[in-house]
Parts: sequence; C-alpha cells; structure tokens
Amino acid sequence: MAVDNKRGKGLSFTPMGIEDASMRNGRGLSDQWADTVVVRPRTTERHITVHKRLVLGFAISILTLIVVTIIAVLLSVRFEGCTGDASSRAANGTVPKFNHSRDILSNHREDDPAVQPWRQLRLPGSLRPLHYDLKITVFLDNFTFSGEVSMELECLNATKFIVLHADKLEVAKALVYGEHNKKPGAMKVHRHFRYAANQVFVIALHRELKSQRTYKVNITFEAQIENELLGFFRSSYTLHGDRRYLAVTQFSPTHARKAFPCFDEPIYKATFKISLKHESTYLSLSNMPVEASVLDEDGWVTNHFSRTPRMSTYYLAWAVCNFTFKETITDNGITIRLYARPNAIQRGSGDYALHITKRLLRFYEDYFKVKYSLPKLDLLAVPKHPYAAMENWGLSVFVEQKILLDPEVSSISYLMELTMVVVHEICHQWFGDLVTPVWWEDVWLKEGFAHFFEYVGTDFLFPEWNMEKQRFLTDVLHEVMLLDGLASSHPISQEVYQATDIDRVFDWIAYKKGAALIRMLANVMGQSVFQMGLNDFLTTHMYGNAGRDDLWNKFSEAMQKEGKDINIKEVMDRWTLQMGYPVVTIIKNESMDNCITITQEHFIYDIDAKIRNPELHNISFQWQIPLTLAIGNSSHISSESIIWVSNRSESHKISLMDEDTWLLGNINQTGYFRVNYDLQNWRLLIEQLLREPEIISVGNRAGLIDDVFNLARAGYLPQNIPLEIICYLPQEKEFLPWHAASRSLYHLDKLLDRTEEYNIFSDYVLRQVASMYHRLGWPTNAVNGSIVQAAYQTEELRREVIMLACSFGNKHCHRQAVSLISEWISSNKNRIPPNVRDIVYCTGVSLMDEDVWEFIWMKFHSSIAISEKKVLLEALTCSDNTFLLNRLLNLSLSSDLVPDQDVIDVIIHVGRNPHGRHLAWRYFREKWSILNARYGEALFMNSKLINGVTEFLNTEAELNELKDFIQISGGGAAAAFARAVEIVEANVRWHGLFEEQFFQWLRKSPNS
Ligand SMILES: [Zn+2]
Repeated sequence: MAVDNKRGKGLSFTPMGIEDASMRNGRGLSDQWADTVVVRPRTTERHITVHKRLVLGFAISILTLIVVTIIAVLLSVRFEGCTGDASSRAANGTVPKFNHSRDILSNHREDDPAVQPWRQLRLPGSLRPLHYDLKITVFLDNFTFSGEVSMELECLNATKFIVLHADKLEVAKALVYGEHNKKPGAMKVHRHFRYAANQVFVIALHRELKSQRTYKVNITFEAQIENELLGFFRSSYTLHGDRRYLAVTQFSPTHARKAFPCFDEPIYKATFKISLKHESTYLSLSNMPVEASVLDEDGWVTNHFSRTPRMSTYYLAWAVCNFTFKETITDNGITIRLYARPNAIQRGSGDYALHITKRLLRFYEDYFKVKYSLPKLDLLAVPKHPYAAMENWGLSVFVEQKILLDPEVSSISYLMELTMVVVHEICHQWFGDLVTPVWWEDVWLKEGFAHFFEYVGTDFLFPEWNMEKQRFLTDVLHEVMLLDGLASSHPISQEVYQATDIDRVFDWIAYKKGAALIRMLANVMGQSVFQMGLNDFLTTHMYGNAGRDDLWNKFSEAMQKEGKDINIKEVMDRWTLQMGYPVVTIIKNESMDNCITITQEHFIYDIDAKIRNPELHNISFQWQIPLTLAIGNSSHISSESIIWVSNRSESHKISLMDEDTWLLGNINQTGYFRVNYDLQNWRLLIEQLLREPEIISVGNRAGLIDDVFNLARAGYLPQNIPLEIICYLPQEKEFLPWHAASRSLYHLDKLLDRTEEYNIFSDYVLRQVASMYHRLGWPTNAVNGSIVQAAYQTEELRREVIMLACSFGNKHCHRQAVSLISEWISSNKNRIPPNVRDIVYCTGVSLMDEDVWEFIWMKFHSSIAISEKKVLLEALTCSDNTFLLNRLLNLSLSSDLVPDQDVIDVIIHVGRNPHGRHLAWRYFREKWSILNARYGEALFMNSKLINGVTEFLNTEAELNELKDFIQISGGGAAAAFARAVEIVEANVRWHGLFEEQFFQWLRKSPNS
C-alpha cells in the first residue's frame, strides 16, 4: 500500500515539515472528476430504485425482525436474569432461537473468551479456511450487493462455534455441512449471531466439529455499496456530462469483512473462486482472469474468475465499472492492462505507467529470482481511493493522480512520484502478496521493503537519477529521523491486539524507518548476499506468511554461506524493538596518538521531554551500530572501514592522523543514526567543504548538512556551526546537498519569521543562494519525457534554487514569476515550464492583486489535467489577503468545489503561508469536530492535518493554546496531539535557549 508522499513540492515554499508536505499521505486524494462538477450531498444516498428482489428481501427481514423483537421482549426478563448484558451486544441483527440460547448462556461464565470465543480479540484458531467460493451480485442502480459464500474449512481443534469476521453485512442464511454430508443443513445450527464489538459473526452448532475433519459453511448476505473508501465502495466521474458510477474494493487492512463473511486475518490464507454478476453494460475485474462469462437474457452478465493461489483476504479485490483499457504482454506471456476512464485512456494518460510496469515485472523477476505468480496484472485508475495505491494481487488499484500522466503539463516531481508509487506496488506483488506478514505488528516489513525498493526500482528505470544513493537520504532518512527523534516516537514493531489498533501501525515510522533499516542492512550485508537472502526468504515462504525473525534467519544463513558470522536477529532487534536512534560521537583522543573515542546515546530533540517521561527516562537505549569511518585531508579521503559499536563508549585505534586530518563517519549515510564530532573536526570538515567539497561524497555532504542542523537544533552543537556550513553552498553544484540544506532552512524560517531580526537571517540565506541562482537561471521550456533522464539533476537543482530564492525574497525571482503570470493572463497561453509552475503560481498569487487569484481559481475549475489541478488549488493558498484565504477555507470545507481529500491540503497550505498561519490554526480549532468526524478514521489524515496547523507554533502562549485545545477537544488523535505538543515545546525551548546565540553570530558574521 502506498500513501501519498509529496516530496517537498508543496507550495507556499515550505516543503519541509515533520510528517507533512514532503511526505506521502494517503487516505484519499481526490475525487476530481466527480466532485468538482456536480454538487453532491455529503450524506449517503439511500433510496432511488430498489431492486425487486431486495424489496422482497427487505419485507421479509422486517417482518422477521418484528416477530423476533416481540418474542425477544417477552423473553428478555427471564433472559436477563441469568445472562446480564450478553444479549444486548451478541444478538445484534440476528435471528436467535432463544429457548436454546438460554442454556448456552446460563451454563457458562459470561465473558470468558475460552467459553465464548467470539469475545477474543483475535479469531480463536480452531478452524482454518481452505477455499472460498464467492458469488457477488452488484446492483449499481441502488448501490447494494448480495452475496453467497461457500467456505471449505478444516477443523484444527474441536469446537461448537464457527467464529468468523463480518461487518455491516446482513446475513440471511447460514448453513453447515459435514464432511461426507452433501445435504444442506445437515448439521443443525443452534443459532447464529453477530458480535459487533469484535466485528465477528458466530454460528453456534448443536454438535462439535471434529478436529482434522473438513466442513462446508454456506452463508448468504446483503450489504450496501457505501459512499466511503473502505470495503466494497462506490465512486463516480463524469463523462460527456453524464455521471458514471463504479464500485471497487479496498480490503486492507481489515475491510474484506465488510464485503463477505471471512477469516479476515492475514494468516488465514486460502484459495478463492469469485463470480461477479452485474448489468452487462459494465465490465468486472478481479485478482484472476475471467474463466467464463455467462450472459443472461435480462441483460445481466456473470463473470467467473479463475481460482486464485493461496492468499490473504486483504489482498482480494474486485471492481465493476465501465472503463476502457490498454494492454501489453511481457516476454513471459503475462498480460498487463491499465484500466481507466475512457477519455484518459484515449488521451494516452496511462501509457507511461503501463510501459514501466512491463519493465518492472522483469526487473523484480530478475532481482528476486522468483517469477511473477499470476497470469495477468491489471492496474486500475480510480477517481477516489483512500491511499495512493493498493497492491491487490493481480489487480492493483491506484488513485488517478498516482498513475495517469499528461507529459506536457506534468513536472519531473510528478513523474517521479508516480513512478515510485508504481514501483512500490509492483514490489508488493512479491513482498506482501506472495509472502505476507504473519500479523500487523510486522507490517513495516512489507511496507519498509516496498518503500526501499521504490528507490532501487526507480534506479533501474532511470539509472542517472541515483535514487537509492541520493534522494533516499533527504526523502526517507532525514525525514523519518525528524519524527523518530521525538520522545513521543515508538518502536517500529508495535504490538497490535485488535482491529481498531491496526490503522495505527501504518505510519511513517513503519514505511520510512523500515526502509532505512533495510537499506542499512543491505549495505552491511553487501548486494549479492542481500539478494541471496531475499531469494531464500521468498522461495521458502511463498504462498504463506512470514515474520521478521524468518527474514533475519535467512539473512544470517546467507551471511554464513559467505563465511561471515553475524547474528542478524540480535543486531536488528535493537533497531526494531527500541524506538529512536543513536547519535554517535567521535572524538580524537588528545592524549593518545591515533586513538579515537566513540560513544553512543539516544538522540532526542527535547531532552526535557525524556526527563518528563519516567518510562523513557529509565530505559537505557543501546544499539549495535555498523559505523563506517574514513579519514581525509585537503586532497584525499581514505577508503572506509567498519567498526561495530555496541558499547556506550569505546576506544579504537585508527591509522595515521595529523592535525589537519579529519574524520568522517557513516559513509554515504547508509546507517540509521547521526554522527557528531569534536569541534576541531567540524572546523576541518567545514574548511574542506569550502575549499574542495568534491573530496567528500554527495551523500555525505547532504548528510553532514542534515546532521549539523539537527544536532544544533537539539542543542548538541553551537548554533553557528550550521550557519557556517552553508557558506560553502555557492561551491555546491549537486542537487542533493542543496535539497538537504533547503529543508533545514525552511524549518528555521518557520521558527524565525516572526522575530524582529528575521531579515538578518533571510538576507544571509539569500547571499548563499544568489550566485547559484544567477548561474543557473530559469528553465526556458518544458522538459519532456525523453530528456527527463539526463535533465533530472540540473532541473531539480534549478528548481530548488529558484524556490529558495523566491521564498526568501530575491527580487529578481519575484519579478520573473510576476512576468510569467502576466504573460499567461494576457496571452491566455500557459508557457510556464511545468517544473516551476507551483513556484510561479504561488509567487504570483502572493505578490499580485486579487484578479490573479480569481484567474487561478477559474483555471482550477477548467483544468482537466490531474497534476495541474492540484498545483492550481495549492497556489490559491499563497495569497496574503486573509479575506480570500478565509473564503477558500470555507468553500473547501462546506461545498463540493474541493474534493474531500484535498481539503486537508488546503488548510495545511494556508497554515504554511505566514499570512494564513493564525487563520488556519483558528479555523482548525473551530472546525475540529467536523474535520475529526470526516477524517478521524482515515490513516495519516488527521495526524497530517494536526501537524500541518501546529508545527509553526513557537511561543509559550501558543503552546498553551494548543494544550487548552487538546483539553477541550474531547479526545481522539492522541498520538498526533502528543507529537504536536512535543514539537511546539521544542520550538519554544529553542527560542529560549538558542535564538540569541543564533542571531549573535549572524550579526557578527563576516558574511553578513
Ligand atoms: Zn505498500
């Protein structure tokens, strides 16, 4: 599953932030096509024409319900006397036979899960599904569906209860057949009922199911095709002015149970045979190809799909739509199709994704040395989806913004983002679909891998982008170290007990720290041994489940084969079961020649936060750290050597050093930790950067910048060191160190932009940027796909420098943006290069008058290119006119002009605009109950919003406002609020302790 990660392409010029702009966030991007055109009621639409069969069904159920209720009322007095509260929850929506129920409930202790296994948080484990036959009939005219599932079960431990998952389903009938008994109803069902608290459905039998025998269970049910984003849900788009509907599934992590009764935990792998019946004007898709298609006389069609391999329920998928497709076939005969709205297919918007998918299947087959398992792979582009994409086996679903591309208006970053989402999902076809984590606490394993492979796989497609060696550092490593340096962080492996906890584990720690740890390990092991371990892991566990220890074992074995005896589990448990990461300090030993002292401690931004939290305070964090080390002088750097640091403090002897020799740790930043040195060593490193930066690798230059800013921010270094280091930027010709620097500078900008001496700071930054800005100039024309490969480094650097120049107030940059906008308005032809459109639009809106805002607003409505639409919307948040900002906020939330999922981004972007900060913060508090109701359940969404509107708060008064608000907000989003408080506290603390020191140096700086 990929979630949206906008790599710093946010507008209002502050692409950095903890868990936001530069991160993916999912839970629904937009419903662009559907929602901008027609006003849509926000409540679920029930009604319209109800299908005849359903009318009858409803009538019968209502009648049954009335009769049952009467009986229930009559019996309830007696019943309650012996059972307490059991009936109130358990009998929810069922047809219980009370005379029998009574003895079950009265003979046993009520809430003992051993006696009533449906009360357990996990399925009891006495039964195991082997195969499902699932028939679904889809009524898109009234958004309902009916289904029949027939399951083959193996009994592992004798039991009277069949407990399986079902949520929001109306079960009409449940029958159980014995092994040799083909006659329906042969096993007497005592009663069946829902236990809503655990989202389970229970069939209680008269007789026990015997262990080691197989049984069949047949259940018929009905449900709604909801206007939500989970289970089997609907969305829409317009084609030639008509609204068209489609229905698609999203089962991960726990929503298959909303579509059919099943054993909805990843360990219960089974085979599935699916049939979908719908009006023949639609087509249907599922994980496997259609085996047979039967057309009824009444204009309905039933598609029977082939049997799947053994798989987990959450990777099952189907869709009913009237899309068209393009296809390609791999050398191995696998058919890849991309399905999308007919006009998108016609425009060729899916061609790029289709093309790279074909190359990627081949890439992964070669890398993992394991063939793709299914005969086909469909990529489905939907207008609305909770995540960027979902890797259902053989039918991956993408939100349109992450798979459709219009080359002439898309920026390099849009192309890169889309590429990485596709690379991510295709990786999951092996890591996830084929081998599935045992349970959700190890979700980081599959997500960390897929996130790491985004970089490896993109390098395969675009070798010159150098993603794994370079972009990984800023976008993954630096990003997650911000989060994981907070006292409110958590270990990457988190215990998960129940369904409602599961969403919690899909966070940036899982994705980004997971990827960073895997990269560290891959570098320690070496490419070929790493690949060997992966191949062994995949072939051993294919079609099954595996946990982290299984992987560590395979890696240890692979290392042993190479004669290296490293206990990978022992090393990795330190990194996965403890939160945070270390800062390694390397100090030259004055008294002994060629001797260094290496210490490790838990890196934390706000040391007070740790002191305040006794639980954390008492833990003595320690890691086994693969520290790579090199020494250098003005003209030369040694090759790296590795030191395993496992003690709190260690002394090591190293080769010759003189006064001018510097030390450099964590070569190419392959390790997940920070490195600090004595001040003398920092001085030597800074001198080296000023004199001849290329002696130090690009990755290390970016790493030094990120480390230095963050060490200073946390108080490990004086505030002048980061300011001194960026003096070398005029010499820096590579994108990555600039990117690392600008992320840190935007953070400081947020802290400082309301201080009296802000101009000293912004002038200082502009001076470092000016020469490179003038040297590179502005892009002249659009970068088309064919030269993207070669142009990436220069174009991204140019963009980064222009963004810095415009946001810190370079006059030339402002004039250029204004003239580009003016030309667009006067000619009505947009000749602005796509790669800088966001900067130009935003600068134009912020500097020019209201007419420009109206012009962009109009273009937002008329634009049909998906990437362009979002850029236009975000530009509207750059105005310094609070009236317009207010209008935008209100329109976003209360009308259908802005797609649901883009509303959050609008609020955050307003918050990032210095003129909109207080507006966004106030608006957030006023609308919290609405926002929380709408996005509260969505992964990432709330925490992204909370972070976005609070990260710039930095005074004691604002901190109190935040704390007061949390008090009255009535709970919810506790983790995100705890993190917000910690960040704001650290901001306040920085002002108190370091602001004066910071400006003091700037005032005296020779460079000022
Ligand atoms: Zn994923």
